[in-house]
Amino acid sequence: MAETPLMKQYKDIKSDYKDSILFFRLGDFYEMFFEDAIKASKELGLTLTSRNKEREQDVPLAGVPYHSANSYIAKLVSKGYKVAICEQTEDPKAAKGIVKREVVKIITPGTIIDVDSLDSKSNNYLMSIKVTENKIGIAYIDITTGEFKVTEIDEDTEYMQLFSELNKIEPKEVLLTSSFYETIKDKIDDFVQKNDATISIVNKVRDSEKLLTDYFGIVSLESYGIKGKKSVIEAAAIALDYAMTMQLENDLTVEKIEFLNVSNYADINSITRKNLELTKSQREKTVYGSLLWVLDKCKSSMGTRLLKRYINNPLLDIEEITKRQNDVQYFIDNILVREDLKEKLENIYDLERLLGKVTFGSENGKDLTALKNTVKASIEIIQILKDTSFFNDININVLIGIYRLIDESIDENAPFTVREGNIIKRGYNAELDEIHKIMNSGKDFLLEIEKKEKEATGIKNMKIKYNKVFGYFIEVTKSNLDMVPDTYIRKQTLTNAERFVTPELKKYEDTIINSKAKIEDMEYYLFKEVSTKVKECKTDLVKLAEKLAYLDVIVSFSTVAIENDYIRPEITNDFSIDIKDGRHPVVEKLIGRSDFVSNDTLLTEKERFTVLTGPNMSGKSTYMKQVALISIMAQTGSYVPASSAKLSIVDKYLTRIGASDDILTGQSTFMVEMSEVSNIINNATERSLIILDEVGRGTSTFDGVSIATAISEYIHEKIKAKTIFATHYHELTELENRYENIVNYRIEVEEKAGKVMFLRNIVKGGADKSYGIEVVKLAGLPKEILHESKKILHRLEQKKELIEKTIDVHQLSLFGQVIEAQESYQGYNPDFYTEDKTDKVAEEIIYDIESKDVNNMTPMEALKFLSEIKAKLEEKK
Ligand code: ADP
Ligand code: MG
Repeated sequence: MAETPLMKQYKDIKSDYKDSILFFRLGDFYEMFFEDAIKASKELGLTLTSRNKEREQDVPLAGVPYHSANSYIAKLVSKGYKVAICEQTEDPKAAKGIVKREVVKIITPGTIIDVDSLDSKSNNYLMSIKVTENKIGIAYIDITTGEFKVTEIDEDTEYMQLFSELNKIEPKEVLLTSSFYETIKDKIDDFVQKNDATISIVNKVRDSEKLLTDYFGIVSLESYGIKGKKSVIEAAAIALDYAMTMQLENDLTVEKIEFLNVSNYADINSITRKNLELTKSQREKTVYGSLLWVLDKCKSSMGTRLLKRYINNPLLDIEEITKRQNDVQYFIDNILVREDLKEKLENIYDLERLLGKVTFGSENGKDLTALKNTVKASIEIIQILKDTSFFNDININVLIGIYRLIDESIDENAPFTVREGNIIKRGYNAELDEIHKIMNSGKDFLLEIEKKEKEATGIKNMKIKYNKVFGYFIEVTKSNLDMVPDTYIRKQTLTNAERFVTPELKKYEDTIINSKAKIEDMEYYLFKEVSTKVKECKTDLVKLAEKLAYLDVIVSFSTVAIENDYIRPEITNDFSIDIKDGRHPVVEKLIGRSDFVSNDTLLTEKERFTVLTGPNMSGKSTYMKQVALISIMAQTGSYVPASSAKLSIVDKYLTRIGASDDILTGQSTFMVEMSEVSNIINNATERSLIILDEVGRGTSTFDGVSIATAISEYIHEKIKAKTIFATHYHELTELENRYENIVNYRIEVEEKAGKVMFLRNIVKGGADKSYGIEVVKLAGLPKEILHESKKILHRLEQKKELIEKTIDVHQLSLFGQVIEAQESYQGYNPDFYTEDKTDKVAEEIIYDIESKDVNNMTPMEALKFLSEIKAKLEEKK
């Protein structure tokens, strides 16, 4: 079947932009075809139609009007798509045959400059990853704020650290070479899919070092501390080159490269980041319910973005932490200064992104006014803080100059548009004022004409009006038509009136229209002149933005500390963590401070491993997360929820906390669990904080206890890290007797008349029994299930005693032995549990029950399990 020339042209162009959605200009519309049409109609809620219905091959089609395309493009890009804009590049009237079309720009998630379509509280990062000589170079740019950071990590087999960085940075677009993309395909595909991000395949830049030194106008990369770091330089060059290519017609905001040494920050891998809900809650994936939610009292989006970076990157250097603490303390101690500042900070706009707009030339009058107000508030803030070093190296005269310039020139009520006038204030430019005068006198003259004509004709209700089609005209109602003189020229007839012009009217109309056009041109020119002057002060303004963001975070820390009754932790160089009356910052907010039971934590060189027992729902997980969160908060410079805290620096936060997700995704819980534990064990150092929550529950009780024991022993003997291990296997409490540095704690509960009361306080010593079944009762399960569970538990306990007599579980320290033990166990005669010694079905059922971890079953699982048993018994009959 022959293709139409248009379709041929489309396909030719599309073949060069396979990974983008092609917006194909057809008259007043951008059309999308085939796959693009299907995707776009789904994402944008457009109607999907089709072209060439009559032919055998339908062409799916969707379109958006040209004039409202921007919002559609922004929406697609925010979902991780790239959009290629294909325009008609010749006048359709002049075209012979089909109009020429070309892609004129590509809008990608990492290079979008349409700031208003972005989330103000998050950075919009374009990130490039380049592996060279066993090092992974990472570079990320937020072109809307000008931030450009690079870092370097070691290449490891699993790329754990790389993905930890990816999850921390959350780039919207990732640049990779095709070979490296193949290497990490599965994982990175998963990442971009979950994050609405995109991947772009790129090539290495020819001379990376030259590209960077040329762009920044420097002689050596020494000044950025990255000289000789090949992977970093290559990654940086790729990112910058890509950003420049995508923004051909615009300047970039980037002014410098910041090298982040990963070893300056505590390591929090992505699993831990999720478990601890640092910036997002696990369930809802929203800020609500996260640590960020509690800590963020920032007044500006810049502050929030910086705070997020702080939370993701706890410091390791005591001096740096102390500096932040001192700054926070300053605002805690100086109430008046703090309250004053909070008020002033309200007037601070997103200076970083305002500067981005000015650099890209996409600013309007309102943006300059926002910039002016920000500068004004900054000057006031600097005055308030003149006795401190916060704004030491900011040149206040530059700020005053910018304020005056914008204040004199830009009208506070300027519209969003920049080419329609009403931007420039009167009195700023004499020539402009003159044209305004001419135009206004023209307007006055119209009134005069009206008056004169009324008198001359005697038509009392005649009016001079204006519309876009006819310009100025005189309107006379039908009843007065006989009084209209011959000199009037008829323009239009309405039902009740007629419209006329006169030569005189026409002349003044021309004056007005001409002046209007002149004013619009001149205002645009003057506006751009002001912008350019502002742009020349960019370096100062960028520095100001950084300082303001920092101040915002520090003031937020102090506000939060006061509101939530936090204290300044003492950061020490030794080994221990000593917290008195610690609270979980998020849970206490959610359930209310008075309902939250505070608890102490003591981990020292001598007592560095806590085995924490307590029934389900008693508060084990909450307690352990609380310890990690308090430590992380302290290392970001924040105060912490406790009555006192002495904290040594933690280098890595490593957690294994069973997520309910594991079960839902159907992945083998046990496999996930063990690979996470092995990652912890391979990475932890003496200075790390390890949190293990119910490790071993992914398998049968018996295996679980053995594995948990073996892991504990290994950590205690080999790693020596501070560890809290929560478990409801009270078998683990026996470790205390055999290992010097293991200590038992338990969460107290009270049992009255078969009911469990949660006291939530932690005391030394181990629990002597599990309470899982009582919790089932609390959860409102039917009595039958409860009854049945108790019977099963009883039988299991009998059985376990017998096994323990046969093999000494506690001797198992290596996995190999665990397996041996399991084998001997499987060979054990199950007849013991059943009255009908020959009954195969009963044997099976007993075996099933044995392999279940009753304490950790959800009510639904328990119910399902019970009905399976029933079904088996039914079969037997
Ligand atoms: P576990 O891990 O022992 O099953 P969780 O830590 O999940 O228990 O806690 C269960 C619930 O108990 C939490 O959702 C929380 O609302 C409440 N809780 C936990 N710790 C405390 C506490 N210290 N004070 C008050 N309520 C708490
Ligand atoms: Mg728990």
